[in-house]
Amino acid sequence: MPESSFDAATWSPGPGGSGTWPEALAGTLDPSRRSFVESANAPDADFPIRNLPFGAFSTDTLEPRLGVAIGDRALDLRNVVEAGLLEGLDGRIRCALSAASLDDLLALGRPAWLAARVAISRLLDADHAALRDRADRETFLPAIEDIRLGLPARTRDYTDFYASEHHATNVGRMFRPDNPLMPNWKHLPVGYHGRASSLVPSGTPIRRPHGQTVGPDGPPPAYGPVRLLDYEIEVGFLIGPGNRLGDPIPASRALDHVFGLAIVNDWSARDVQKWEYQPLGPFNAKNFATSISPWVVTLEALAPFMVDGPPRAAGDPENLPYLRHDRDIAIDLELEVAIASKTMRDAGTPATRVSLGNYREMYWSIAQMVAHHTSTGCNLQPGDLMASGTVSGPEESNRGCLLERTWRGENPVELADGTSRRFLQDGDEVVMRGWCGRGERRIGFGACTGIVDPAT
Ligand code: CA
Repeated sequence: MPESSFDAATWSPGPGGSGTWPEALAGTLDPSRRSFVESANAPDADFPIRNLPFGAFSTDTLEPRLGVAIGDRALDLRNVVEAGLLEGLDGRIRCALSAASLDDLLALGRPAWLAARVAISRLLDADHAALRDRADRETFLPAIEDIRLGLPARTRDYTDFYASEHHATNVGRMFRPDNPLMPNWKHLPVGYHGRASSLVPSGTPIRRPHGQTVGPDGPPPAYGPVRLLDYEIEVGFLIGPGNRLGDPIPASRALDHVFGLAIVNDWSARDVQKWEYQPLGPFNAKNFATSISPWVVTLEALAPFMVDGPPRAAGDPENLPYLRHDRDIAIDLELEVAIASKTMRDAGTPATRVSLGNYREMYWSIAQMVAHHTSTGCNLQPGDLMASGTVSGPEESNRGCLLERTWRGENPVELADGTSRRFLQDGDEVVMRGWCGRGERRIGFGACTGIVDPAT
């Protein structure tokens, strides 16, 4: 039996699982499955019944609670539990689904996540009458455009990695043309401890920060609004049960601790970064804001899109044993960045796509990042967020930040309003989207957006 191969057909739910999970999971992924929420059945819907991502929301009249996106609606989980529509679930799971954020559900682990998924999938199925035929059904399904989506969990720790070889090589080449990758890069997934307090949900305006920078002639530095403001498109993963201090998570069990994925924008001040980053890495260049898309797409929903990671090039070092596992999973996840200036938004002009990449290109896998993070015994806790680092690919059009995309500003990108960008300007909106598959297999992540406000 494979140690922990996350595959809809062969995956084992581990201790406590009933042994029938793979079949139950396969049922929720059936492309022929339809919901009575008609908008979920559109071929280009981000949130068909096969997806069922979790988020946290509130309205003027509803206190914060969890929801599951279905088409253009959010299933109000507290309301559903209180109405007795999920009575088949264990009481602890129903209690966790009634909470204001995902923390309690995250702590319960994969068998509980899968049980909740199966029950919610059934509740939303076109052939299931319990919710479908209720006269008050609309009260359980507020429109997503009418709710305020918040952070999905109370994240206490946030870690950012640097797992794309294309990104690390491109950035390294700008500063060290003959030696772009540091000697450690292919031996361990490089990362740094980020700042959880400045995580913000998609749609939160991003004020241009001040910082200490030096001009092209070098020191002395000056303090003022940063000039080289950038985005980085990354994939974030939300941690489930986690580990006790002192007990590393082996790579083969790492995905048991990953609830799901979201899109992350690691806003970056490049002029601050350049001056401050040596010798301890990024600090103020990254700590003023990190945006996250509100809907967390579970590994269950992503199971059909798990693929083998890129082969290691000849001459690359072999991984140390603690970084090896039986199937090095990547995810076939398309990632798009688009920019809309204020002029474009005022004129109703769609955002201009500036890059399109794919998460399957990443050198280090999610399991390896979790295993390396905990290899010292460092403890992960429910709700912790990790991010992959900028997702870039081999082509110029795959580069996931402006630093790379414009090559430090040498090759500006053109927007639909006729202006060009080396770095972000005040009023620019950055719109990131992600999706897997096409046609009847497609699922989406929705958007991660933010508008740059002027410095004050
Ligand atoms: Ca980053």
